[in-house]
Amino acid sequence: MDKKLKFAVIGKPIGHSKSPEIHQDFANQFDVKIEFRKDEVTPETLETWLSDFFKDGGKGVSITLPLKEAALNYADEISDQARLASACNVIYAKDEKIFADCTDGFGLIKDLEENLKVSLEDKKILILGAGGAARGIIPSILERNPSKLKIANRTESKAFSLKKDLGIEVNFRKKNLTFEAGGLSDDFLLSGSYDLIINSTSVSTKAGESIGLPKALFSGTKLAYDLFYSVENTVFMQEALAGGAQKVSDGWGMLVEQGAESFRLWTNLIPDTSRLLEKPID
Ligand code: NAP
Repeated sequence: MDKKLKFAVIGKPIGHSKSPEIHQDFANQFDVKIEFRKDEVTPETLETWLSDFFKDGGKGVSITLPLKEAALNYADEISDQARLASACNVIYAKDEKIFADCTDGFGLIKDLEENLKVSLEDKKILILGAGGAARGIIPSILERNPSKLKIANRTESKAFSLKKDLGIEVNFRKKNLTFEAGGLSDDFLLSGSYDLIINSTSVSTKAGESIGLPKALFSGTKLAYDLFYSVENTVFMQEALAGGAQKVSDGWGMLVEQGAESFRLWTNLIPDTSRLLEKPID
């Protein structure tokens, strides 16, 4: 490819995003020349920004908070994953159309199964949080046939609506799945044990803040996974280890893998993620 491909990541705040570095690493593997912008865009400026970007020959955009839902309005085609999530983390131009997709679920499953060697089949899984990230990952988790999935969220009603929306779509009853939703009370959390506990709340974005989970929650847990990525262990990861979780991980691997899938959607090229997985960008 001789032409410089135009990509971008947009959202607010955007300064912290590692997308330009991740995609530059992928492009270097194929000798593809790219220009990768990092622009602060709000829901109010989204329409104009996207229209200008694609008119200018832009190819693909990574979408972050707070634009993940709003960006769906500008797509001609919405993938099943993005529809189930009611949000997208990537949009791109192809065949004169704009496509929206959600690669978060793909990224998480790839990180769990291939990088961390954790199978989800017949496992008992607890998801903390019921925001955009939970919506993005739950359809992919359900496809892996866990035996139990429990969603616990601070605002209980959001966990119930998430279960309702996704439960109907994936027809989970056929898979002999126990699927529960509730709040963050000790009674609900401790009414079972979990092989895998995933923190999809945004609590780790605030350094030092704790969800206030009961210590006994992590007894018997094989992996406690925080979607947030951080060089130091997050408070959630520290509490999981103190509570007896066998292993912890942050979401760096998911971030790299969802980026690799976005890069594939944009270019049809599948990048090797191993170098970035070994050496996270500070
Ligand atoms: P979001 O839509 O704003 O949802 C935030 C969730 O966190 C809600 O369920 C909220 O509960 C809960 N929450 C916030 N503060 C809390 C607290 N103090 N105690 C308990 N629960 C709390 O955010 P999101 O898009 O889902 O993102 C969540 C996290 O995932 C972020 O850390 C983000 O960086 C990470 N993420 C990582 C990747 C990756 O590739 N690694 C991809 C996507 C997202 P309420 O409903 O009660 O407000």
